[in-house]
Amino acid sequence: MALALEQAEEAFRAGEVPVGCVIVQGSRIVGRGCNRVEGLSEASAHAEMIAISAASSTLGDWRLEGCTAYVTLEPCIMCAGAFLLARVERVVYGAPEPKFGALGSRIDVRQVEGWNHSFEVMSGVLAEEASSLMREFFRRLRRDARVVESGGLENRCGGNSTEGSNPSLSASFDDED
Ligand SMILES: [Zn+2]
Repeated sequence: MALALEQAEEAFRAGEVPVGCVIVQGSRIVGRGCNRVEGLSEASAHAEMIAISAASSTLGDWRLEGCTAYVTLEPCIMCAGAFLLARVERVVYGAPEPKFGALGSRIDVRQVEGWNHSFEVMSGVLAEEASSLMREFFRRLRRDARVVESGGLENRCGGNSTEGSNPSLSASFDDED
């Protein structure tokens, strides 16, 4: 999970919502990814999707049997669904995501009957570190938005704008202070 957090920090530095994912088979890291929705302008470029892709390519197989995915934030319905399809054995996540979390918070995709696969879930691992990174990210977004509103700084972050970056997700970590 520490390595998944490193991925989240990489996303943070790139101006992306800071989520990271590492996929492990045995003691070997087979895939990793960080959120790149803004950079790639792609709604599906979540850390988990990128890590799943990387792991499949490392293993030469779309079936990630025997793999554990470590994610800093509770996966959304797309990513939880992808973990099902990829047949991972276990998903370990850090912070819960009340608005979009699909492994227990909003819904639990594993509860739907009829899947031919399921996986174990463990949560709360390095949760405080993961959510404080999220809070810090949205705190900076708000601060930068205020600077722009007051006409102070027009072209912030070298144009790597995250304005409007997943506002619904941000609401979950928006502890106005
Ligand atoms: Zn997702």
